[in-house]
Amino acid sequence: MEILHVSAECYPVAKAGGLGDVVGALPKYLNQLGHIAKVVMPMYRTKYLYNHEWEVVHKGRTNLGSWWFEFTVIKEAKNENGFDLYLIDINGLLDREKVYGYDDDSERFTAFQIAVLDWVSAWEHRPDVIHVHDHHTGLIPFMLKHCFKYRNIKSIPTVLTIHNAQYQGWMDWADSKMIPAWDTWSWGMLDWANKINPLASAIKCADKVTTVSPSYLDELKYMSNGLEDLFEYEKGKCVGIINGIDADVWDPATDTYLQNHYSIKDAEAGKLKSKLDLCETFNLDPEKPLIVFIGRLVGEKGADLLPQVIGDSYYYVGRRMNFLVLGSGFPEVEAELSAMKALSQRDYNAYIGYNETLSHLMYAGADFLLMPSRVEPCGLNQMYSMRYGTVPMVRRIGGLKDTVIDYGEPDGYGICYNYTAVGDITHAVWRAVELYHDKKNLSAIRKRMMALDFSWEASVKKYIDVYNSIV
Ligand code: ADP
Repeated sequence: MEILHVSAECYPVAKAGGLGDVVGALPKYLNQLGHIAKVVMPMYRTKYLYNHEWEVVHKGRTNLGSWWFEFTVIKEAKNENGFDLYLIDINGLLDREKVYGYDDDSERFTAFQIAVLDWVSAWEHRPDVIHVHDHHTGLIPFMLKHCFKYRNIKSIPTVLTIHNAQYQGWMDWADSKMIPAWDTWSWGMLDWANKINPLASAIKCADKVTTVSPSYLDELKYMSNGLEDLFEYEKGKCVGIINGIDADVWDPATDTYLQNHYSIKDAEAGKLKSKLDLCETFNLDPEKPLIVFIGRLVGEKGADLLPQVIGDSYYYVGRRMNFLVLGSGFPEVEAELSAMKALSQRDYNAYIGYNETLSHLMYAGADFLLMPSRVEPCGLNQMYSMRYGTVPMVRRIGGLKDTVIDYGEPDGYGICYNYTAVGDITHAVWRAVELYHDKKNLSAIRKRMMALDFSWEASVKKYIDVYNSIV
């Protein structure tokens, strides 16, 4: 089967979060099973672009409303990632450093999707499936089915994977002129609550919809930023498939970002070296447990509660632990977390920004990883941390609920709590400190976690079942 993934992110080209990790791994594992999976994404101006060789495979000219533009499709020449990788260049829209966050994101991603379909409709053969990811590529199922210019490829089935339903790409109806001519009777397939809603449109028009964990799919029916009724209505074509992790990239024995490698046999000693590195760099006390947070500093992740959780932990549990935060997001949260550095007694620090290398060192060197998420479609951090022998401290929600069992339960290994509330999280911190001093138990838990299998193999088979059901 030939599957074309269309995405705004793909590791290692451009990544802002879990979407990039998944699109960088799933195609590779599909190919290993004998399928042909390809990825097409925008040609941002990232380091990866300049460090690799490319060949031009297509040039086209098309329009976004009344604006005509030329686009170029280039392909990575050496197939370094284990799948064919295509980038689409549109001057003036996609030639930027960052993936998101521009005022014209709607124009950027609409033009990208039009260029993708123009390119595919020029192919001599057809892919068996077009697999789109999140709202940035959510207009594709609609455009394939309803835009006149794509009549020749309209029979290609589509799959939508929802990595995050909070963001839906809302556009005013005035922007409908950006979409190539379509039969107007089908306007309802674009609309949700009087707006063009690319995510809702993809849920309506795609042949199958997947979410990145089974629990998240259940939760979307009562908590999906306005789409609850739609999820209830479309539940027949929705499937929850938990993400895997790319075991080639995320392996403490071979991780190219790490200086000190280790495996399950020498985890204690191996982790300690990375912990000492971190403690020296960030002026922390290596005798105390190291609790880290890695992620976007936004409400979804519960990051707004971090300052109070840290303050309350020092007050109620005592200054018996270190906290180290890596992330960026809401300016207020960033400012608060930065200001707290001045109050550190060798037990707190924060790195505000995005740093892939530091994140790997933190998964390796930390004792505990805090994830007090309000919403967590799948969550990759907890799986990375377990593979690196770091105990996850997670709220029971979405993918966290599906992947972590509290260490108080039989064969458990994590620290779980029910609510994103300061009291619950602080209590989890206390449990972490207690566990840290129970060395024998901690060591057994580490081994148990590191032996868990979160690889893509099982999940890839479920995606293949989804493709088979529509091809
Ligand atoms: P999200 O909702 O952000 O996609 P996921 O848990 O699915 O959350 O994936 C987050 C991914 O992004 C992980 O690979 C994590 O290590 C990475 N990440 C998040 N923030 C940062 C950061 N500031 N620096 C480095 N990596 C980060």
